[in-house]
Amino acid sequence: MERSFTLTRAAALDHLSAIVLRTGHAYAAHRNTDRGPDMEPTTTALSPYLRRRLLLEQEVIAASLAAHGPGTAGKFVDEVFWRAYFKGYLETHPKIWPDYLDLVARDHNNLATSSGQRRVFEDAVSGRTGIECFDDWAIELVETGWLHNHTRMWFASIWIFTLRLPWALGAEFFLRHLIDGDPASNTLSWRWVAGLHTRGKNYAARADNIQRYTDDRYSPTGLDEDPAALEESHPAPVRPIPAADAAPAGDVALLLHLDDLNPETLPLGRARVTRIGGLLAHAPAAVELVHRADEAAMADALSRAAEYFGCPASPVTEGWADGLPIVTAWAPVGPSADALPTGCTRVRREWDERIWPRSTRGYFQVKAVIPEILRDCSTGLVAIGDEEFSAKRR
Ligand SMILES: Cc1cc2nc3c(=O)[nH]c(=O)nc-3n(C[C@H](O)[C@H](O)[C@H](O)COP(=O)(O)OP(=O)(O)OC[C@H]3O[C@@H](n4cnc5c(N)ncnc54)[C@H](O)[C@@H]3O)c2cc1C
Repeated sequence: MERSFTLTRAAALDHLSAIVLRTGHAYAAHRNTDRGPDMEPTTTALSPYLRRRLLLEQEVIAASLAAHGPGTAGKFVDEVFWRAYFKGYLETHPKIWPDYLDLVARDHNNLATSSGQRRVFEDAVSGRTGIECFDDWAIELVETGWLHNHTRMWFASIWIFTLRLPWALGAEFFLRHLIDGDPASNTLSWRWVAGLHTRGKNYAARADNIQRYTDDRYSPTGLDEDPAALEESHPAPVRPIPAADAAPAGDVALLLHLDDLNPETLPLGRARVTRIGGLLAHAPAAVELVHRADEAAMADALSRAAEYFGCPASPVTEGWADGLPIVTAWAPVGPSADALPTGCTRVRREWDERIWPRSTRGYFQVKAVIPEILRDCSTGLVAIGDEEFSAKRR
């Protein structure tokens, strides 16, 4: 079983070129089918790059639109906007993240005192439940670091409603192993399956749906196909998006983190980057495979940034900024934001600025502005970079 991702921008651009023709009709027709780990995925597998912004959302959308036009690219574009929406939703409901971390700790404690549940949990994470598809997916996740979207939905649903395991432990299992593990997309998708995101609306994995969309590879029995949604007593409150900073003019130290490894396109105004540091804040409990992916992506970004800005770049160490003001890309809620040094200037991309304030409720508020954002995208308002950058970008 193999899925390998080379976490560099050059590899990301090669991958985008290789799959862009599949983001039109073929994507819309087949994206729900998981043909298995030994076959080409029916989706793009761009997520490890988008997660770290080795590729920007707007550039993969621009590539798809250029290849297919807005009608045919529509489904793919919509999915990329889901990612942006989830980032914005966590940003406007930040308490969901620490609450999730607390639940993980509490649920692990409970496992220690409940041998029955501990056995179910251990069987689930090691692929020994006896539900063949679920067991294969658990092993696929651990071995490859990736799962198809539909499979993630089935897996989460079986975890919560058939095995009756706590959703937060399932989300943690994903975040430990996924190469695209993302605090927003992961936590909110698990909550969506559970019926906590769109309250009262949960996702039930059905045997006939699994059979159909795995090309008859699986036909599970014994699933709970009519479960009630989970409930919570204190949903996280909404907050306005905090204002971003403007980069100061003059010499600055640029801090890179795993949520934005695209330093060439940051809105830095008249700042002059003379030092670059890389801050690695991995997902909590992430495994070695994920650490290696993070490290490769960071090494690539540091070396590109050093060449682009013409100054030294290295992992963050004591005194790396040499007393200069530190500027960084806005880190959305999650480990990078938690690890940022206090007092640094956080700049935000126009893309996030446009989408996040609309991400306070359902996806429909974001969907309504997609045409407007795409129009601006094509007139360069959120363009991926200037001429000079385009020439340098490989
Ligand atoms: C339980 C569960 C957990 C998930 N955990 C993560 C996670 O940790 N990290 C993550 O990036 N995605 C997560 N997703 C969303 C989605 O499954 C992946 O983004 C997608 O499978 C990545 O494959 P792809 O690049 O081939 O997607 P494509 O279908 O080719 O879509 C292109 C891009 O759009 C975005 N996208 C597509 N579908 C979704 C979606 N449903 N939600 C948000 N963004 C989407 C991704 O950035 C993706 O790379 C999760 C979904 C579920 C149901």
